[in-house]
Amino acid sequence: MERIVAKFGGSSVANASQIRKLAAIIDGDPRRSIVVVSAPGKRHGGESKLTDLLYLCQDMAAMATAITEPFGLIRGRYAEIVVELGLDPAVLADIDRFGDELVAGCSADYAASRGEYFSARLVAEFLGAEFIDPAQYILIRANGTIAPESYELLGARLAETSKRYVMAGFYGRNRHGEVKTFSRGGSDISGAIAARAAGAMLYENWTDTSGILMADPRIIDSPRPIAEISFREIREMAYMGASVFHDEAILPVREAGIPIRIKNTNRPDEPGTLITPSLSAATVATTEIAGIAGKKGFSMISLEKSLMNRQIGFVYRLLGILNEQGVSFEQCPSSIDSVSVIIEDDKLGGLDDVLLEQISRQLEPDSISIEKDLALVAVVGEGMVRTVGMSGKIFGALGRAGINVRVINQGASEMNIIIGVSGADYEATVRTIYQAFIGD
Ligand code: ASP
Repeated sequence: MERIVAKFGGSSVANASQIRKLAAIIDGDPRRSIVVVSAPGKRHGGESKLTDLLYLCQDMAAMATAITEPFGLIRGRYAEIVVELGLDPAVLADIDRFGDELVAGCSADYAASRGEYFSARLVAEFLGAEFIDPAQYILIRANGTIAPESYELLGARLAETSKRYVMAGFYGRNRHGEVKTFSRGGSDISGAIAARAAGAMLYENWTDTSGILMADPRIIDSPRPIAEISFREIREMAYMGASVFHDEAILPVREAGIPIRIKNTNRPDEPGTLITPSLSAATVATTEIAGIAGKKGFSMISLEKSLMNRQIGFVYRLLGILNEQGVSFEQCPSSIDSVSVIIEDDKLGGLDDVLLEQISRQLEPDSISIEKDLALVAVVGEGMVRTVGMSGKIFGALGRAGINVRVINQGASEMNIIIGVSGADYEATVRTIYQAFIGD
């Protein structure tokens, strides 16, 4: 039988009533036989995510501070679910034993992983499904990538198509056998690994929004949801700051050609967003752009040197300096006598002076400067390659809005146009472009 992997995020397992909704969704389609869960998320605005409390406990225990209060909150969240769903309270003894492990000084990865571990055990019991501990099947390499044998190991564990399984998200193990987590939000990656390992026909990602929005709702009032988007487009959007789906989670399913559907646990009848290997003819015919994403917090180092274009290896040496300092860059626009590199401030890590000094000494430019507080905005859409006048539409609108464009970069794939503006113009840029394509 064809199978669907259904991954539920923190808000979908935040309490007993959310877990009941999850169960109704699973019961609603027999193909949904593999479930992957996050740790319980916030039940309301003022509350902490369980994962944050786990990191806090681990930190406090490492400083020999009593963890009674935050650990009590964690235990209380699970205890409430156990009581309300009528589950076996024996799991609470295991949670208490984990409390002892925290006090004894376990690793941060192990501590954080227990959020998903206990969540999956409870959901498995409620659904009458087999619980799967990913530490036994998912191998995470030192550089954070997934060892390919994980797919075979997990695939063999999920082999019986007539069974229901519930796997904990967010972690696996390293080659020393220690529990290792993915980066934050990484249960999306676990779901993608399960979908590929099981050869699923679809990877459903259940969350608390009805799909991916065309732009950041903090900037645009009720932006349109995206009905269908390609893997290539979504990766650009996620990388450039669009939230909802972890950008690394796309790779396992993309390689296997498994589509993803983002759905809302609280409104299961809404269609959500379909992420597909190739867009349908209807989407291609009706959409100019998939969406707009962006981020603040970039710096641009610009250098000028006369006749730079004649010097072979100039840019090579510039990028070599970044490489030596372990700094990665986002964009590298250049012209005849000048070149710039745009670097995310987090990745620059305060190395501004070191880089400026090294570049000045090794490349002897006529001038060098650094501009801080830039924002990058990406307009993403596979259709852009076929549409004449896309740039005109974007830059005409920005010009009329009086926004000074600092950098323009159109990738060779012609799937996105990246626009660099001053951080202060970021929101206005997103709004202007959205209005130009979608209207108010
Ligand atoms: N619980 C983890 C986090 O809060 C992983 C996840 O929810 O995907 O980051």
